[in-house]
Amino acid sequence: SSPEKDDGTIAAIVTSVGGPSAAVGIVRLSGSLAVEVASRVFRPARKPSEGDCLWKPRSHFVEYGFALDRQDNVIDEVLAIPMLAPRSYTKEDVVELQCHGNDLCLRRVLRACLEAGAKLAEPGEFTLRAFLNGRLDLTQAENVGKLISSKSLAAADAALAGIQGGFSALVKALRMQCIELLAEIEARLDFDDELPPLDLDILVGRLNAMCQDVQEALETSDYDKLLQSGLQVTIIGRPNVGKSSLLNAWSKSNRAIITEIAGTTRDVIEANVTIEGIPVTLLDTAGVRETNDAIEKIGVERSEAAAMGSDVIIMTVSAADGWTDDDKRLAERINMNLRSTCSAIPIILVINKIDCAPSISMAHFAHDIDIFKKKVQTSAVSGEGILELEKAVLEVRVSSRFH
Ligand code: GDP
Ligand code: ZN
Repeated sequence: SSPEKDDGTIAAIVTSVGGPSAAVGIVRLSGSLAVEVASRVFRPARKPSEGDCLWKPRSHFVEYGFALDRQDNVIDEVLAIPMLAPRSYTKEDVVELQCHGNDLCLRRVLRACLEAGAKLAEPGEFTLRAFLNGRLDLTQAENVGKLISSKSLAAADAALAGIQGGFSALVKALRMQCIELLAEIEARLDFDDELPPLDLDILVGRLNAMCQDVQEALETSDYDKLLQSGLQVTIIGRPNVGKSSLLNAWSKSNRAIITEIAGTTRDVIEANVTIEGIPVTLLDTAGVRETNDAIEKIGVERSEAAAMGSDVIIMTVSAADGWTDDDKRLAERINMNLRSTCSAIPIILVINKIDCAPSISMAHFAHDIDIFKKKVQTSAVSGEGILELEKAVLEVRVSSRFH
């Protein structure tokens, strides 16, 4: 006998599918008929008491047994974990079946659940229910998604803080303060003669404190966005100033080809680093200069396109060569490109090969053009200045609170 479909009870594989098999995978049921559906699929290994045909789960107690298909064939050996309403993720009755992690096992158990009356859950539907049932607010639900897709520990920590309701608590507190202030002001409109006069200093003080809280929340949100989206940083500069060496020293990988022949790094090469938890993609570009060599020209165009699409541009020059006419021309061209596309991409000037010319004057570099947010001295050979460069990248993108 096929049971009635219940749109209210959903099922899905909630662990990852399609990758290499893990030891364990989970099929989750949620809804008012979760227990009923589970009891059609799950048979406990212990002997049921006399007359008990259906499984009677005890909330939050793990039970060992078997998953069965409609013909009562054993399709997996599982652990059932009942979490009855409201003590569950969705606040509904939830039963999780811990199966073997093979996709075939998981799909078979899921199919058994669907045949037993559950509906296949939409992506995110468990979290949607958690939200609709008041278990999570919107920011918390959003952060569940962020935590699952986090690519760095710092991003995971930020998402976790969001789930635990730090932001929601702040919004609630600010809302209460607003209401209190409003009440005080409105009361003066109606009962002015019966109340002590408003102290404007105190009022303004409280407003300022609230503004400060909002400002900080906005900055945190900027940082959170960067944790999720990451930054793209493009290194440009004349051939041989040390762009590839810089990328190598920075990423300590050997993904870039370093060479002494001018103009050989024709393609854009990328490396990934993290700065204070923010994932940063470094792009090393072909030496930017006027060229007639067709292949090199493609590289030059690519490097300019990469620069225009990035979050930060690092223009590298060589301390050994000083501030050259070519450097100035390149800076002017980048500036012109940025202006014509109305982009405000911050540019950092990196004076590399500082080991070759330790006593150069920083002020002399780019003395005749004002487009650089910061100047940093580095040596790709010794690694000197890389930390300062990382700081500079964050400083030009993130507000001062975070470093
Ligand atoms: P790119 O064309 O700008 O990518 O420059 P490369 O990274 O290929 O470097 C060109 C040459 O400069 C190579 O011989 C590097 O070893 C050398 N070089 C790069 N950075 C430094 C540095 O900081 N100090 C010294 N002394 N040499 C460097
Ligand atoms: Zn290079």
